[in-house]
Amino acid sequence: MSIDCLFCKIIAGEIPAKMFYEDDLLIAFADIDPQAPHHFLIVPRKHICTALDLTPEDNELIGHVYQVAGKIARDLGIDEDGFRVVNNCNEAGGQTVWHIHFHFLAGRNLTWPPG
Ligand code: AMP
Ligand code: ZN
Repeated sequence: MSIDCLFCKIIAGEIPAKMFYEDDLLIAFADIDPQAPHHFLIVPRKHICTALDLTPEDNELIGHVYQVAGKIARDLGIDEDGFRVVNNCNEAGGQTVWHIHFHFLAGRNLTWPPG
């Protein structure tokens, strides 16, 4: 846990969130400012600041993120329609919270490229 990290506080239960999925490695909760009918943040429990801070020991964790994204999509019944998983890295990449997370977006026709 990193003091003053918003997502570490959510993981520790110190700040409430609308939890959707939890396991030993990560949690998934509703984004407070949803950009699609389904917008969850998939957040590893381990405090990793950005995608640039990943090491080979995190490979299994990141694979697991995508396994959970698929489970969420199937549980919501939108797997065949489609969904998007995206990580924003550093300021120009749109990152605003420095604890690695993956946006899960679904429920509308998502456009490309993003803004
Ligand atoms: P990013 O800009 O990629 O770092 O994503 C951070 C996301 O965290 C944004 O989509 C915010 O809406 C979301 N967010 C910020 N504070 C909270 C919170 N307390 N609970 C849930 N989501 C949050
Ligand atoms: Zn953190």
